Amino acid sequence: WLLEYSGSGQNWARRMEETGTVVNRVEIGVLPSFTSLLAIRDMARKTDLNGELSFGAQNVSELDAGAYTGDISAQMLAALDCRYVLLGHSEQRRYHPEDDAKIDRKMRVVLDSGMTPIVCIGETKLGRDDGIGIDYALNQLVSAVRLLSPEDMCKVIVAYEPVWSIGTGTPPDPTVIESALADIRDFINATFGADVAAKVRILYGGSVNPNNAAQIIHRYGVDGFLVGGASLDPTKFAKICHRV
Ligand code: PEP
Repeated sequence: WLLEYSGSGQNWARRMEETGTVVNRVEIGVLPSFTSLLAIRDMARKTDLNGELSFGAQNVSELDAGAYTGDISAQMLAALDCRYVLLGHSEQRRYHPEDDAKIDRKMRVVLDSGMTPIVCIGETKLGRDDGIGIDYALNQLVSAVRLLSPEDMCKVIVAYEPVWSIGTGTPPDPTVIESALADIRDFINATFGADVAAKVRILYGGSVNPNNAAQIIHRYGVDGFLVGGASLDPTKFAKICHRV
């Protein structure tokens, strides 16, 4: 299971078609900027892509319908047929800031609109150096899912993205990723039960590229990737898909 994450626009959709990125066994989800959602939707609707391409948004408002000029609601995204909404990306947490309470509310509006939240968690470099890496990420997860029922939790996708690794070209050692994802699954197991833990998809994100994709995806418990920089180049992205 592979999830793509791209900040760019219409040209990307066309180039991806040319590159023939859609691969059997792999679900590709594209999460473009809001302004590119329609171009991606048009591409996803083409019958020759066989429904293997999904798409979604990089964020959503926590507010329902109403007079909130400038916000994009979950209902608006659902009306565009978005399947996914990314929540709590480290850049949103850092620059806006998106706090845990807000992410809680966003989880609710996304699920209530029939879409799938992809919740990002991950420690900063400071957290890693202080030795609290995975605990920091787990606390973010605890907060994001604390109000969910087991049925809701089954629909959630968790993306473990160590912040210090994003955009740096340096992912953690694959054994460290495996161990972090095992801790995340253990938490889900302890909180929601084994059935839920088996169903929740957990992605890894942070400097995934064609050279390291195979080593990481074959570690136990890694269900897919959240790809940033490498997704901007359809050729690199296609290579990642083919190595999964
Ligand atoms: C990201 O922006 O979430 C990300 C994972 O980026 P990159 O793949 O470039 O590290």
